[in-house]
Amino acid sequence: MSVGIDTLKTALPEGAWTQDPDLIHPHLREWRDKYFGATPIMLTPRTTEEVAAAVKICAEHKLSLMPQGGNTGLVGGNTPQGEALISLKKMAAIRDINPTANAMTVEAGATLQSVLDAADGANRKFPLTLSSQGSCTVGGVLSTNAGGNHVLKYGTTKELVFGVEAVLADGSIFNGLTSLRKDNTGYDLNRLFLGAEGTLGIITAATLKLFPKPGYVQRALIGLDSAASAVSLLEPFRAGGRLAMFEVMPAIGYRAVVDNFEAVRDPFTERHPWYLLCDWEVETEEDGLSIAETIIGRALEADLVTDAIIAVNETQAADILSIREHMSAGQKFLGGSVKHDITVPIDKIPDFFILADTAMQAVVPGCRPVGFGHFGDGNIHYNIAQPEGTDREKFLANWDALSQPVFDIVDSLGGSISAEHGIGIMKRGDLAERASPVKMKLLRAVKAALDPDRIMNPRVMI
Ligand SMILES: Cc1cc2nc3c(=O)[nH]c(=O)nc-3n(C[C@H](O)[C@H](O)[C@H](O)COP(=O)(O)OP(=O)(O)OC[C@H]3O[C@@H](n4cnc5c(N)ncnc54)[C@H](O)[C@@H]3O)c2cc1C
Repeated sequence: MSVGIDTLKTALPEGAWTQDPDLIHPHLREWRDKYFGATPIMLTPRTTEEVAAAVKICAEHKLSLMPQGGNTGLVGGNTPQGEALISLKKMAAIRDINPTANAMTVEAGATLQSVLDAADGANRKFPLTLSSQGSCTVGGVLSTNAGGNHVLKYGTTKELVFGVEAVLADGSIFNGLTSLRKDNTGYDLNRLFLGAEGTLGIITAATLKLFPKPGYVQRALIGLDSAASAVSLLEPFRAGGRLAMFEVMPAIGYRAVVDNFEAVRDPFTERHPWYLLCDWEVETEEDGLSIAETIIGRALEADLVTDAIIAVNETQAADILSIREHMSAGQKFLGGSVKHDITVPIDKIPDFFILADTAMQAVVPGCRPVGFGHFGDGNIHYNIAQPEGTDREKFLANWDALSQPVFDIVDSLGGSISAEHGIGIMKRGDLAERASPVKMKLLRAVKAALDPDRIMNPRVMI
């Protein structure tokens, strides 16, 4: 190991690596304090060629590597345990924006926010938004196939990428950067790297798909009596193809946010059991108001909605979005939380809640389910907060006992145990147990073909 590290230090230019514990420390823990790590060296390349040189040395010395972007991943795949850490943060350039091709080529370390801003500056939309967008990077969102709030209209990250540039496990560079919409020349190699969680190579750049900017975004926050009511609203709300966001929050999560963050306030005077946040992308402000009033008016008449706030300006729209953006952070105020990122067919969401809420009480009586998220694409962040007044660590010791029944229910409903966060370290065992033998054989065959010595993120996924 040390010969490999010494070779990296000698061969790479100054500034492309560090062993300074103060510089490395923030990269070794994730924001929830669930995973803590260690690394002998942090590589900080500035070019694709520097990444390739570093990986080549690692390959020669059989040194394992973990790529890291913004370190906002939620399944432990970004916390090294002895691997050399390779941070892409210094590769953050926007290489090219081509409005005619609706394409933009960016380096892997660019934050998602910088991509959104650059697209906006070119009068285009890049339709991926996450609460972590100020920190997460292009390499990270591609490698986790991130989802976020606009999947129901634009798809997951996989749908938003033309091609990637990636350094393979032997140090060679695959250049798949393109803005071609048609290219049927063999297997879709670019897609192999999307959702691969750094196990097949290091993404160094990508060409992303841009879209026309909508003329106006109409937002509304709606009070509801149940998760089932939210699901029954999806069909009428998406009529006309304008619905771009359909996010649902239960009262417990909503109150944890509005009662604890000074910058966020509850715009309703009454409390509601559930809340729905919607965006419609339309041509003009007048269209927005008229569409929202018509659709919500019908839902009020049908008793599917108890109250609604239709945003009338940008400040109000930003304020109500900020409640949803604080949902993850807000749960810290509820104490320990066992987290699940699952998806089920949309029509099965009400069944999921009935079955899972009952199952959770059987494991830890008094625990408090906080199931929120992207109901418009079937994705529920089904988190379980500890019972009030109990010990946090004792509760968290039930993580597996709470998760297995959730996963059993998800499997029985034809869902997925990982909707958008990936497998990482957290769900590696669950994947091996629950995926079909044929799927596992294919996953292992792809890994063996691209990384036979298992140097790329060897503890992650498979
Ligand atoms: C508050 C909050 C809200 C979130 N909301 C969402 C959400 O709505 N939807 C969603 O999908 N996710 C969400 N996430 C999860 C997270 O933001 C995403 O997984 C994001 O895509 C990770 O990007 P990152 O740059 O931080 O990657 P990291 O955390 O650094 O890495 C994630 C994984 O990708 C690999 N990786 C990173 N860069 C590269 C690269 N260049 N090449 C190859 N592999 C690489 C890492 O090894 C690791 O396995 C949220 C996280 C937080 C903290």
